[in-house]
Amino acid sequence: MEADLVVVGSGVAGLAAALAAASEAEFAGGIRILLLTPGRFGGDGASTLAQGGIAAAVDPGDSPALHALDTRRAGAGLTVAERVGILAAEGPERVRELARMGVRFDREPGGALALGLEGAHSRRRIVHALGDRTGWEVTRVLAEAALRCPGLRILEGAHVTDLILNSGPAGSVTGGGPGRRPVAGVRYLDPDGETGEVHAPLTLLATGGACRLFLRTTAPHFALGDGLALASRAGARLEGMEFVQFHPTALRVDADPLPLVTEALRGEGAALVDGSGRRLFDPDADGPAPVGAASGDLASRAEVARRLWLAMQEGVEPFLDARKAIGTAFPDRFPGVYRLCLAHGIDPVRDLVPVTPAAHYHMGGVAVDAWGRSTVAGLRAAGEVASAGIHGANRLASNSLLEGLVYGKRAGQGAVRDLVDGCPDGRAPLGSPAPCESRPPAESRAISLAPAPTARPDADLLAEVRTLLWEGVGVVRDARGLRGVLSGLERIEAEANRPGQPGQGPEEGAAPSGAIARAVLVGRAMATAALARDVSLGSHLRSDSRVEAPSRSMARHTLARLVS
Ligand SMILES: Cc1cc2nc3c(=O)[nH]c(=O)nc-3n(C[C@H](O)[C@H](O)[C@H](O)COP(=O)(O)OP(=O)(O)OC[C@H]3O[C@@H](n4cnc5c(N)ncnc54)[C@H](O)[C@@H]3O)c2cc1C
Repeated sequence: MEADLVVVGSGVAGLAAALAAASEAEFAGGIRILLLTPGRFGGDGASTLAQGGIAAAVDPGDSPALHALDTRRAGAGLTVAERVGILAAEGPERVRELARMGVRFDREPGGALALGLEGAHSRRRIVHALGDRTGWEVTRVLAEAALRCPGLRILEGAHVTDLILNSGPAGSVTGGGPGRRPVAGVRYLDPDGETGEVHAPLTLLATGGACRLFLRTTAPHFALGDGLALASRAGARLEGMEFVQFHPTALRVDADPLPLVTEALRGEGAALVDGSGRRLFDPDADGPAPVGAASGDLASRAEVARRLWLAMQEGVEPFLDARKAIGTAFPDRFPGVYRLCLAHGIDPVRDLVPVTPAAHYHMGGVAVDAWGRSTVAGLRAAGEVASAGIHGANRLASNSLLEGLVYGKRAGQGAVRDLVDGCPDGRAPLGSPAPCESRPPAESRAISLAPAPTARPDADLLAEVRTLLWEGVGVVRDARGLRGVLSGLERIEAEANRPGQPGQGPEEGAAPSGAIARAVLVGRAMATAALARDVSLGSHLRSDSRVEAPSRSMARHTLARLVS
């Protein structure tokens, strides 16, 4: 198959990018845009699960400057001021755009947008839809718009396993870098195990996060960090790989992924308690919070997760108590969480809700500029897979749907503009389209992450990776545990490379093809970066170091590049 731009993933970032590209291409004409997704279009990513909402300074008493300040404070010195400024400034218009497209945001009786409060926000600024089903509603509207869009082709059931590298002279495009060849498309597996290829001068990864690599997680099936592995194999720079946000309140039940109990509940006054209903964190005991920052149950996610984790190590079973603060309003205000709780035999109107920290969001990613350009020609990224300088060492709650909307749109627009303006010219900027003269498929090769058949089913090995990362790169880390993860991953990799039994077929529920190679690569990058950063910062908590206040001298990302 041929396209000019191939977008991988149908979460909010992929949808926003594809729609923006299609709209930009209307004026350019003749640009072919194809979106691939492995599961159900618009329904197989984290976006559809998002509950709390979208952070945006839409209230007259709020401002983009304040939103940017909160975002940068949460990011602990590792955000890029200009990019955060763009996010906060463009946020309100993206929300209004969604409302015009038909997103049913919740409103006050007078018609103003109803605003929720979440941890570490200094203002109520979380817009939400259908109570706590914001992600579902937003992806529904974007996906319907994409289906109506004549300039956009969509392919469901396409699991991307490889990037196709152009075999033109390495480094012939500025920014391709010595030894790095432009990306010229993707190879994918369909549900029958058949391989397909899409050749395109621009590939935009919108593959979401990597939190599924942790045993306890709220992240969906495909959040295995595939985009990170593929980009890294192509020579792209990854940054901030150690920064994983652990949400303090996933539902503590026997489920995978764990259902999320949104932070907005604590914003409405629900409290973290022990089994006898006694508050775990006394907000007054923290002393005065820094200006504009929250404390107690609404301190930053990393802080609340850390406290809960330590309490659990001492045998405390944490719960969320919404009985008094929300009570009978629960089913109307939080219908999604209410249903999830009931499905596990918990009635949050009457019962304490059992909670646990769980891996929730990965701040690290493919290093990109403000238009989604990676350090490799032909390769772009947007959304959770990217590191655009927005979240730094810790994400401010509800900033990621917003990032997908703002930076997904910019990546889609930028891609089409670069296709029109920058190809071929040999002087193109970083991540520019692969030069047209070297497009023909016959000249390209794939970086294969496809595995040799293994003696043990991939699903078993993936479960081992997930346990290893949860235990060693979890809420609180130390050097010994991190080294253990690295040697564990080596063992798993060796096992995955052992020749399998002849004729062994794919197992029921098996991990997708090549998943172990990709998981090991991403896990190794996370553990190595976490080992290298030997002080606590943002979401990265080291029990074997002092807590470092963010300072200019520390404000540097760890960078990862695959050395093969
Ligand atoms: C339970 C939960 C609740 C959340 N609540 C909020 C919230 O209230 N507000 C907020 O701002 N954020 C929230 N987040 C985070 C937010 O949902 C995500 O960060 C954001 O939606 C990511 O969007 P995305 O488009 O980058 O990725 P996703 O929405 O995850 O989409 C990724 C896409 O890539 C596809 N993909 C993955 N691998 C491959 C592959 N190899 N080949 C092809 N396609 C692939 C996936 O199937 C999917 O289509 C929540 C996250 C979770 C898990």
